[in-house]
Amino acid sequence: MSDIHIDKVKKQFGDLEILKSVEIEIKDQEFVVLLGPSGCGKSTLLRILAGLETETSGTIRIGDRVVNKLSPKDRRIAMVFQNYAVFPHMTVFENIAFGLRMRKDSEAHIQKKVKETAELMHIENRLTHFSGQLSGGQRQRVAVARALAMEPEVLLMDEPLSNLDALLRLEMRAELKTVLDASNTTTIYVTHDQVEAMSLADRIAVMNGGQIEQYDVPTEIYHNPATEFVGSFIGNPP
Ligand code: ADP
Ligand code: MG
Repeated sequence: MSDIHIDKVKKQFGDLEILKSVEIEIKDQEFVVLLGPSGCGKSTLLRILAGLETETSGTIRIGDRVVNKLSPKDRRIAMVFQNYAVFPHMTVFENIAFGLRMRKDSEAHIQKKVKETAELMHIENRLTHFSGQLSGGQRQRVAVARALAMEPEVLLMDEPLSNLDALLRLEMRAELKTVLDASNTTTIYVTHDQVEAMSLADRIAVMNGGQIEQYDVPTEIYHNPATEFVGSFIGNPP
């Protein structure tokens, strides 16, 4: 089981307290959305979970493993970024295979995993293309396939659809939901888009000013906002 326990995680940059004692418990295989306005600390929290940034204090556990002190590659966490972090000079195949090669997985396993995840993300007929030649949506499919190929316990996604146009965003959102619900990955998905949060999340953590204001299922967040901020941000003021 890979429940995630985020316990009193704080982050300061100089004198600025960016995260103020964040506490969240996420159940194995749950889809949790971190929702909040720009600058509230969503990306910082995600980067701390991934090990790309160090917390000032607090503990992060996955199952019974304390992961704080582990290097990013030992955390069994994969991350998808907003700006399609794919390598333009590599083929789609090599982009998806990248993490698996770093991990020194067998060639047979790499062939199988790349094919499998490319099919899942509907880019199986693009494997020999250079990713620099793809559209934004296709590149983001590559980024998701690359993350899933690692079979992470936890998948972190930081505004993965925000660079796509509205129609594509809707299409990809529905697809991501289907793919991730069918996988056994626990997902933490960051967005500032209320509608996106409502349609994707099992539970939503509404963040503001480095704190979680409310953590609950979408219907509760909508009908019983815990604070004035949550109500106005969701568009249903108390
Ligand atoms: P969000 O993803 O919710 O938009 P971020 O986590 O990116 O918010 O940023 C939260 C706050 O922390 C912002 O005010 C940002 O300017 C600040 N911040 C982020 N990274 C750093 C850093 N490396 N040094 C100083 N301040 C930072
Ligand atoms: Mg951000």
